[in-house]
Amino acid sequence: MPTTYDVKLLQKKEVAEGTLEFTLEKPAGFEYRAGQYGDLVLPPSTGLDDSNNKHGFSFVSAPFEDTLRMATRMRDSRYKKAAAQVPEGTMVQLLALWGDFTLQKNETIPAVFIIGGIGITPVHSIIAQATHDKTNHKITLIYANRTRAQAAYTEDFERMAAENKNFTFVAVYTATQGHVNGELIKQHVPDIVTPRYYLSGPEGMVKAMRTLLIEIGADEDNIKTEEFDGY
Ligand SMILES: Cc1cc2nc3c(=O)[nH]c(=O)nc-3n(C[C@H](O)[C@H](O)[C@H](O)COP(=O)(O)OP(=O)(O)OC[C@H]3O[C@@H](n4cnc5c(N)ncnc54)[C@H](O)[C@@H]3O)c2cc1C
Repeated sequence: MPTTYDVKLLQKKEVAEGTLEFTLEKPAGFEYRAGQYGDLVLPPSTGLDDSNNKHGFSFVSAPFEDTLRMATRMRDSRYKKAAAQVPEGTMVQLLALWGDFTLQKNETIPAVFIIGGIGITPVHSIIAQATHDKTNHKITLIYANRTRAQAAYTEDFERMAAENKNFTFVAVYTATQGHVNGELIKQHVPDIVTPRYYLSGPEGMVKAMRTLLIEIGADEDNIKTEEFDGY
């Protein structure tokens, strides 16, 4: 059963062109698994009410961190315009906890993440936690954005790749390189059949990547997805 927590908004920060990160106080005793999500409920001072003051966001932060972080691609919606205006220091509500978009326990099977844009949020949490815990998972992240300026957390992934010999980071900039296709995936994942695949982000992108993976020979039972609604 989800619980409602009153938490302070500690910081708002632009982490890529058009992507805003919210750092929240972590409630005492709050535990989650990397890849899970909660609802951020904006206060009545924003003019929003129960019908429109709540959106679900994956945690960007990893469980070992002292604060909670969420990030969203900014758009012209009422919720997001209000979220951008909430001053740091305001009390907001967190309704949590949901989700099973978590890394497999088996460390002998490779894990491949194919992610576009804002779908990176739970993946940041998962890879940061695996790197922190020094697990033996062989992890490949193929992360597509139009440009480097629009790609959130690139420097974090570069740092994690330097620190974690089991982690391979592949940045794809579609404005110059084109969309992720079967050839590109096979270049970085020579054995298509064995890995577990993880796809997250707007529904259209997740569906397209799932179809592509199946076309190039992945078993659909090995594909785990998290679809972000509202995009
Ligand atoms: C598990 C999960 C994790 C998510 N994690 C993130 C995250 O980390 N970062 C992030 O930016 N977003 C995330 N989202 C999506 C987020 O909750 C918002 O829906 C999204 O950001 C769009 O919000 P908006 O204010 O821009 O649009 P809105 O004004 O809320 O909606 C835009 C359009 O989508 C439609 N819509 C709204 N809600 C739904 C719905 N539930 N089902 C179908 N259509 C709908 C509206 O009618 C409208 O046409 C996640 C969603 C889920 C389910």
